[in-house]
Amino acid sequence: GMPVSASNVPAPRRVTRQLSVGAVGVGGEHPVSVQSMTTTVTADVNATLRQIAELTAAGCDIVRVACPSQDDADALPQIARKSKIPVVADIHFQPKYVFAAIEAGCAAVRVNPGNIKKFDDKVKEIAQAARDHGTPIRIGVNAGSLDPRLLRKHGRATPEALAESALWEASLFAEHDFHDLKISVKHHDPVVMIHAYELLAARCDYPLHLGVTEAGPALQGTVKSAVAFGALLRQGIGDTIRVSLSAPPVEEIKVGLQILQSLGLRPRRLEIVSCPSCGRAQVDVYKLAEEVTAGLEGLPVPLRVAVMGCVVNGPGEAREADLGVASGNGKGQIFVKGQVVRTVPESKIVETLIDEALRLAEQMGTE
Ligand code: SF4
Repeated sequence: GMPVSASNVPAPRRVTRQLSVGAVGVGGEHPVSVQSMTTTVTADVNATLRQIAELTAAGCDIVRVACPSQDDADALPQIARKSKIPVVADIHFQPKYVFAAIEAGCAAVRVNPGNIKKFDDKVKEIAQAARDHGTPIRIGVNAGSLDPRLLRKHGRATPEALAESALWEASLFAEHDFHDLKISVKHHDPVVMIHAYELLAARCDYPLHLGVTEAGPALQGTVKSAVAFGALLRQGIGDTIRVSLSAPPVEEIKVGLQILQSLGLRPRRLEIVSCPSCGRAQVDVYKLAEEVTAGLEGLPVPLRVAVMGCVVNGPGEAREADLGVASGNGKGQIFVKGQVVRTVPESKIVETLIDEALRLAEQMGTE
């Protein structure tokens, strides 16, 4: 008989400690959250808050800001207070900014022990300050700035080296009875990154922040992140994610949310089911799909809209979707909830679909 498909069974979540990044719970049963990082100069408070507001509108749960200078540190209290989502300060090199960020009321602080000199000596004070303010710490290990001792031991940033480095730093905090930690071990190679997180998942119960670092321009970064996060999240590994793209941060949020929706970890929102087109297409499928997508962007309901190029799979997909078009002969049959409601010329397909989608969305909103 047919093999049983487990594709719609939710992945069991790895059991982890929980922590609160401001109002956002991370770990345990909390939904996987989506993060990005601002690209503004943090000390430019208005520009930074404006970008945070854009990210918030796009669905960002947690935002991180860089803090490379005293001016940036001085801006943190205002940014942390005015942001509508939790603000994490990202600290490299200078432990004094870790304390500044904790005192500024940041919702969490990311430290990269690999590039903070004599980090081990500072852990006691950091743990103390973080405990006093209830501030969780992310230990963010990066392949490019691995602890020199582990780099010597392993020769390069292997999965083992990344995991060992993070667990060593976590153990230093644990010695001071501080466990409000989450961990990331980023690498630009998804295969190395996946393995490193699998090692961590097996060896600790801290929540994990997933990221493929320096993932690259939009297309490459999207694919690398989707592959790596998919492989891990499907095993229940990963509590918060950041897609890194050499593209505006709002794009990172869109990709991150799509990854979670694709895995069934977030309710699906608007979904466009469009065919790739082929030699049978009798309408311009790319143009139709693009225009329908643009026209419906941001519609806050889980509508599935099918845009299909011909009668081979068109009527079937269009009937299965909430709304759809099956095209043929320069015309489009418009389906709503499985029924053909009308047939329109190609030039009217987009506006008819958008009208019908808005009508359906309104019904769904008031049901
Ligand atoms: Fe080709 Fe028709 Fe399938 Fe689109 S729906 S890919 S046009 S066969």
